[in-house]
Amino acid sequence: MTAPRVEIRLDHIEANARTLVDRLAPRGIRVTGVTKAALGSPGVAGALLRGGASGIADSRVENLARLRSAGFGASLTLLRSPTPSQARQVVTHADVSLNSEVVVLDALSRAARSEARDHAVILMVELGDLREGVAVDRVVDLARAADRLTGIELVGLGTNLACQCGVAPDQRKMDQLTRLVEDVEGVTGAALSVVSGGNSANLDWALSTAEVGRVDELRLGEALLLGTEPLHRRAIDGLHTDAFTLFAEVIEVQDKPAQPWGTLAQTAHGAPAPRPGRGTVRQALVAVGRQDTDPDGLTPAEGLTILGASSDHLVLDVGDHPLAVGDQVAFALAYGALVRAMTSPYVHQVEVAPTVVPVRR
Ligand SMILES: *Cc1c(COP(=O)(O)O)cnc(C)c1O
Repeated sequence: MTAPRVEIRLDHIEANARTLVDRLAPRGIRVTGVTKAALGSPGVAGALLRGGASGIADSRVENLARLRSAGFGASLTLLRSPTPSQARQVVTHADVSLNSEVVVLDALSRAARSEARDHAVILMVELGDLREGVAVDRVVDLARAADRLTGIELVGLGTNLACQCGVAPDQRKMDQLTRLVEDVEGVTGAALSVVSGGNSANLDWALSTAEVGRVDELRLGEALLLGTEPLHRRAIDGLHTDAFTLFAEVIEVQDKPAQPWGTLAQTAHGAPAPRPGRGTVRQALVAVGRQDTDPDGLTPAEGLTILGASSDHLVLDVGDHPLAVGDQVAFALAYGALVRAMTSPYVHQVEVAPTVVPVRR
């Protein structure tokens, strides 16, 4: 099969969704499946929904449009605030969007009216990670403004932690979100139906707390796709961590000195990565590089070591692996490496059908 390619085990993604949906349901928390690391792949979205996700969310309206035109009827949420200039596309392709600016709400309101569509909005609250969200003491005012606008409906509050500054979700922050929900309901008089507590970084909290408060939804990407939690990048018990594998082809295998020689200056990508060791290494060149993925987020099989990468080449110390030119090497992908591999026009995406094991009676 052609390389480089990412092989996607949809059955593993579905199983991951099922496991987390089943663990969170007794706590009254729904799972919205986030497809942005998979570019809004219809195959991945389908697996998440089969696994019990209550809807799909993505940060790009283009990805939601892709899902809509693939025929998805499930609720689609835009995670990144709409840009005012895309308001029409947003109300056309997304049922819900996450918002923090009255100017954007205004644009959505106008677009929803002119397209004769209903659009639901969730207001994002800044709880310390310093990415999106309105300050705690401005939430009620923004909610009032949203409530007054026609064409859009205020359905909930949300927050996002751990993405920008690595601030971990905790009980105090989640309690604060619950109190804000009550404040907003107090002034608008309408019950909020979505309290979106956060992303995969909220799982530890959600699965261990004695008090979920009003939090009734998490937006999960990494946990479902890679089986890892982002706070400490640990595998989550019971989840598949191998739903995505990158394959790339070997184009040179030669014994080379461990150390470069000559006058050392910068490389194409800045300061060179120091090479370990002395003597001779058996080195393989693999036809994949920084244009295709993030080499720092690749993990090869045991016994293979990544020595460095440039735009189009990855250099491996192959030790005594019997690698030959033309062989394909498999790599596990961390989140950043996955995003870049899925975004690169050079990397093919292959959805691997689950192997059907016949049932013997
Ligand atoms: C990316 C994103 C998510 C999903 O994050 P994961 O860590 O992949 O679970 C959730 N919410 C927002 C706002 C996001 O941008």
